[in-house]
Amino acid sequence: MHEDKPTYCRICEPLCGMIATVEDNKLIALRPDKEHPLSKGFACPKGIAFTEIVNDPDRVRHPLRRRPDGGFDQISWDTALGEIGERLTDVQRRHGSKSIGWYFGNPATFSTGHTLWTGVFMSLLGTQHVYSAGSQDVNNRFVASHFLYGNPVAAPIPDINRVDHLLVIGANPIVSHGSVMSSPRIRDGLRAITKRGGTVTVLDPRHTETAREFDWLPITPDTDALFLLSLLHVMFDDGLADETFLRKRTRGLDEWKSIVAQYPPEETAAHTDIPAERVREIAHALVTTERAAVYGRIGTSLGRTGTLTTALLDMVNLVAGNLDVVGGSMFGDLGIPGQRLGVAALQRISSFAYAGRRSRVGDLPQVLGTAPASVMAKEITTGGAGQLRALFVSAGNPVLSVPNGDELRSALDELDLMVSLDIYRNETNAHADYILPATTMYERSDFLLPFQMLFTTPFKQATEAVIPPQGEAREEWTVINELIAVLARRNPLIGLMHAGNVVSKRLGIPTTPRRVSDLVVRIGMGGNRFGLRRGGLTYRRLVEDHPHGVVVADNLAPGQLSKIITFRDRKIRLDAPELLAELDRIQPSVLPEFPLRLIGMREIRSENSWQHNAPLLLRGGRKHAARMHPRDAAERGIAEGELVTVASRHGRISLPVMLTDDIKPGVVAIPHGWGHNGSGGWTQANAAAGNELGSGGANVNALISSDPADLERLAGMANMTGVPIEVTGIKQERSAADQEAGGVSTASIM
Ligand code: SF4
Repeated sequence: MHEDKPTYCRICEPLCGMIATVEDNKLIALRPDKEHPLSKGFACPKGIAFTEIVNDPDRVRHPLRRRPDGGFDQISWDTALGEIGERLTDVQRRHGSKSIGWYFGNPATFSTGHTLWTGVFMSLLGTQHVYSAGSQDVNNRFVASHFLYGNPVAAPIPDINRVDHLLVIGANPIVSHGSVMSSPRIRDGLRAITKRGGTVTVLDPRHTETAREFDWLPITPDTDALFLLSLLHVMFDDGLADETFLRKRTRGLDEWKSIVAQYPPEETAAHTDIPAERVREIAHALVTTERAAVYGRIGTSLGRTGTLTTALLDMVNLVAGNLDVVGGSMFGDLGIPGQRLGVAALQRISSFAYAGRRSRVGDLPQVLGTAPASVMAKEITTGGAGQLRALFVSAGNPVLSVPNGDELRSALDELDLMVSLDIYRNETNAHADYILPATTMYERSDFLLPFQMLFTTPFKQATEAVIPPQGEAREEWTVINELIAVLARRNPLIGLMHAGNVVSKRLGIPTTPRRVSDLVVRIGMGGNRFGLRRGGLTYRRLVEDHPHGVVVADNLAPGQLSKIITFRDRKIRLDAPELLAELDRIQPSVLPEFPLRLIGMREIRSENSWQHNAPLLLRGGRKHAARMHPRDAAERGIAEGELVTVASRHGRISLPVMLTDDIKPGVVAIPHGWGHNGSGGWTQANAAAGNELGSGGANVNALISSDPADLERLAGMANMTGVPIEVTGIKQERSAADQEAGGVSTASIM
């Protein structure tokens, strides 16, 4: 039977509407949903190519157990769960619950059941070993909000629909489609700003796809904090700030006034390379344009002081009068009564609290209950109480995504038990004892809770699974329920949860992600409030009456701060000593032997490491290459397409170079997510991006430090931008080596 089913893509934040064509329970095709109120018939190549991922012959469809020779045998679910249960119980008996850990990758965030169940399971287990991709991406956004508002989940988003002057820093929304912001058709949204007479300015070391459409201001990597301090300097120095208003709404204003006085744009220009007059112009424009906002993302997050930089983005919006106002940087609203008190209570009583626990290795704070993934390898190899001995990895490939993947790769082999829940065999779960087949997004129903506050036009959509689980795939939360049953006897809290699961099932009201989502839909914006609001939304109504989704408000509402700030005085706290202490670290370090600066970049047909096995996304022969300015290449005698070695203090990789004027001289950009080395089961990814050195691309994270001392202190984020590097042509390296060898032999003959 042939059916077209409305659903939505869950690869990245816009959650674009999709029509899934299904025949005999098989996904035949995906096409953009023209009736989706926001994405209106748009989907990117990754969304369309997902049919190939669902049906990929390389996909893991059955539970697998690793053989001593490194191969895998298919086993039954009963055998897999029985053996995992026995080995997990043994680890728990010998080393305690705190020796068990979990790493979940970015796709987990796009599955409500996956995130919720993992979070609750690990919290009840009482382990500190919960890791996510967040420490390579976004955790300092949460920490900045924790310090400023006492609310880690409050993330301001630009009011794309109404802003007239948008300053984008370290973000490339035309390729990323918007990050920490759900704004389908973002390219159109940005173009609309200039169409209505406004401006978009992009500050980035690279002339990105977004910068090419608008104004580009090249900035030196990892100097955003200095630039933002200078904007604040001008706003105060030129009397642009409304100090009466700011005094009423903030704590610590005078301290910041004296701090920013030390950063005139004439002085920071030497580091940022942004001329002082441009800084002054931008500061004035941000204050005098009625609807203006600053939006920063990954480039501002991955520097040495990402939390401070993120907080400064909000401060600039605040001082310019653009925070929490129409056309500025605004906050989404769940519309749940008492949400502020709920967050405040969670902050106090659970591992959700910032720094509720600190890592055993490196003493780094947990963020929303997760520890820095960069220290995971050392947590495995460092002995003592709480050593990580059993690890679950779901929807993740940390060997490619955390700094120093080689260190993690060898550490994984020291675990007593490693279990992966995934759709692919990859570089990480090549080391797992068991790989359990997980569903893809089209094999599960979903309503995505974390994104409800991020839509630039408040919107809701729920979906049923469009096809049944393929092969023997299961949803992660159901597997977690099985693990809970196994561990219930030895851990009272897990025992309680298991009892709750058993009782609710017997009563015919099992706890499921759908039931939890239904609760949120009912009490949230537009919900039926359990019958108190006639015609309001429920999960079922969303699916049946609004299969293409529904806009629940035309625009974001201003004045949310009073619902967001959890501090008693309801003032924004600018004077957190932890933030102020970060000012000591903002001056860029200079290493003469590594004069270039590394930045990351996202490619339009990649989503981190997990979409390189779809033929549609590999068409035309993908290359994995370092982008370099011709001037820097000429200085080093490097030609277009030549193979080069990129070296940092922490490692070296080899790959071809692509020369381009679309990058600031002195900067080298390398896309992340590559480094498929044949150890996984994905044939296309391993064969992609071939060159004389091999295929699969190079893992840029080999250049990044996993040393706890090198991590950003407040969020434990890896420092992945502005890393000092040097680039040498492999030909030149070889001839230098030959010459040296010749020299030695000549000397010895003499
Ligand atoms: S932009 Fe592409 S990957 Fe992201 S949600 Fe839309 S279709 Fe999916």
